[in-house]
Amino acid sequence: MPQITIALKKRPGKKNLPVVGVINKVDAPNYNSVKKKTWEEELGIDLVEVSALTGRGIDDLKAALIRKASYADENRPLISDLINPGELVILVVPIDNAAPKGRLILPQQQVIRELLDHQAIAVITGDNQLKPTLNNLKSQPALVVTDSQVFGPVSTIIPLEIPLTSFSIIMARYKGDLKTLVKGAKAVTGLKPGDRVLIAEACTHHRQADDIGAVKIPRWLQKKVGGNLDFNWCAGFDFPPDLASYKLIIHCAGCMLSRREMLYRISLATAEQLPIINYGVLIAYLHGILPRALLPFRELSHPL
Ligand code: SF4
Repeated sequence: MPQITIALKKRPGKKNLPVVGVINKVDAPNYNSVKKKTWEEELGIDLVEVSALTGRGIDDLKAALIRKASYADENRPLISDLINPGELVILVVPIDNAAPKGRLILPQQQVIRELLDHQAIAVITGDNQLKPTLNNLKSQPALVVTDSQVFGPVSTIIPLEIPLTSFSIIMARYKGDLKTLVKGAKAVTGLKPGDRVLIAEACTHHRQADDIGAVKIPRWLQKKVGGNLDFNWCAGFDFPPDLASYKLIIHCAGCMLSRREMLYRISLATAEQLPIINYGVLIAYLHGILPRALLPFRELSHPL
């Protein structure tokens, strides 16, 4: 029990991460439920008694998990607070080798659905059709949202007076803490050849040629730093607990993660005073367009 107490106290709990305490193997002949109260007082949390072997207490555990679960993700705006009903938004979706066959990725689907719910007008186009799309419009779009990978070329096509951001930055705000992820940009200028950098993706999709996380971001970042960096990758729920040796974490938009998990990862980084940045924020920064890409977000008036 002392080890458990220490582990719980070391866990960065300041981000409102809920804890459900479980005592397993309560079917064991030597288990004494009198200890439960002492342990609850010592840990400062309620404990649920279960037996994975007999199923005893599993319903109580499910009820405790549901009570602690947050549905905050469902009520947060993804894009609807950035535009008004009836306004037009252009979504730039490149169909390249990295695009999954026959479908759109989750951030694109979610943005389209919220625009429809918000009675806004969504125009979806590939990056190579962006110029003709703009020329065919009768009115100026209220916002352009692009895949981060083509941030650079799209920013040269879209006139400066039209707000521009990326799916990844929109998702970073929705799932995580955009201010902290933007502050991570400062660390990029301090990177030196040989520094360790962790690239984290929250799903385990098949890597394509010229993959964003495995190839493009390392290439762009090493060009900026002027030498080789020591990259490490993690995927899915496999996020390393020991972050002390890294100089920077670069995280994907985390569309497959809950907001709670994304905030937890950010809190692990900040507890180590380790900068963490999002793919879209980093790509905008490396292309020199980060201030422009953040303009649609009023809460970030002085981001850097
Ligand atoms: S979880 Fe991350 S890597 Fe996977 S699709 Fe979403 S943003 Fe991309």
